[in-house]
Amino acid sequence: MTPRRLSKLTVVALVMALVGAGAGATALAQAPAKTGVDAALKAAYDKYKGPQEGKNADYIPALAKVDPNIYGIALVAVDGSVYTMGDIKSEVSIQSISKVFTLAKVIEEQGPDAIARTIGVDATGMRFNSIVAVEMAQKALGGPEMNSLVNPGAIATTSMVKGATRADVWNSILGFYSDFAGRPLAVNQEVFKSEADTNQRNQAIGMLMYAYGYIKANPQQATDVYTEQCSVSVNAKDLATMAATLANGGKNPVTGKQVMKVENVPRVLAVMATAGLYDDSGKWLYRTGLPGKSGVGGGIIAVSPGKFGIAVISPPLDEAGNSVRAQKAIADISNTLGGNPYAAKPR
Ligand code: GLU
Repeated sequence: MTPRRLSKLTVVALVMALVGAGAGATALAQAPAKTGVDAALKAAYDKYKGPQEGKNADYIPALAKVDPNIYGIALVAVDGSVYTMGDIKSEVSIQSISKVFTLAKVIEEQGPDAIARTIGVDATGMRFNSIVAVEMAQKALGGPEMNSLVNPGAIATTSMVKGATRADVWNSILGFYSDFAGRPLAVNQEVFKSEADTNQRNQAIGMLMYAYGYIKANPQQATDVYTEQCSVSVNAKDLATMAATLANGGKNPVTGKQVMKVENVPRVLAVMATAGLYDDSGKWLYRTGLPGKSGVGGGIIAVSPGKFGIAVISPPLDEAGNSVRAQKAIADISNTLGGNPYAAKPR
């Protein structure tokens, strides 16, 4: 049937069906029921508060000094409800979790192809700061692409943020992160200095990315701004609100601000699912189904689209570089609350 032949009645019926489908979709995209969330957070908190394996990152000297006993859990639902347990006052540096939000910024400014056609959106299968991954990504070697969540791709992504001066670029990045968190964030200057003094490997990666044309100009600035973005200071509630903004189609559920375009969010989540937890990204997805991102500061965020964002901070890391407690607590809580987006119930 061509559209021209539709009767008025058919049009009304179609519109009603579409409205109905919309309502159905909204019903599916729901925050978890309040009852149960507090219990899930408490159960996970208690279960893992005893001694755990792992140790603080120490290749950035300031991170070795962070209190390993910090343990905070926060969950922010898409309806704006905030649930917390444990230490949500203490702040750590955001580290690699920042890469998610700089990726989001560049996609917002230049569209998803700007990243997909240059840096790539595939897992490298190598360490987060691998130089071999940069070499393998060259056409002649035919290896996998990179992505914006490993250091070479992340430094290149930072270099793509628009701004006439370093200060413009920086203010734009920090303002964007702050909109996700719902409060003005700031840099931990001690961590920034410590990493800037010891990040010769990242400086080399920045230069290599410039040599290969991924970074168009000023690689030193790109690495420096990248290092500063990794030093932004956050607590568990900040991180959970940032994750919840991604869970809520780019709209911060606490402040109500639309921080990024709804259509760009799935691109960001796809890269998180592919490469968010270093070399254990596949294992993490298998356990939880959640796009996530960890940082060597001890935080992990995870996103249950249409339901909630969750974050845990606990500095001791496993061999892959992921917080031991955070992985366990998030997996338990999400699985208890039905957070896995792949786990549909049969009708
Ligand atoms: N600033 C850290 C680095 O570049 C971030 C690493 C991470 O959290 O994975 O080494």
